[in-house]
Amino acid sequence: MTKDLRQAGRLVQAMNTAIAHVRAMPPASAYGPPSVGYPPPPPSQLQIIVERQVVVMHCKYCQSLTPADLSACKSCGGQLR
Ligand SMILES: [Zn+2]
Repeated sequence: MTKDLRQAGRLVQAMNTAIAHVRAMPPASAYGPPSVGYPPPPPSQLQIIVERQVVVMHCKYCQSLTPADLSACKSCGGQLR
């Protein structure tokens, strides 16, 4: 019983040591080639901002905003022109 507990304690100690080693390692970027004079690579995830300017108009039937390039109101389907 006591022996098992001691073994378990040793195992925990070994795990803690391993975690400490992992934490002591430098970040993965430190393993790359020296990037002196080079700008950092662009981030893989680019934030794409889609800016659309849609001309809207009030539907004369339901008064809701609907794109002016549509021939029918997207809300009520009424003919706009
Ligand atoms: Zn409408």
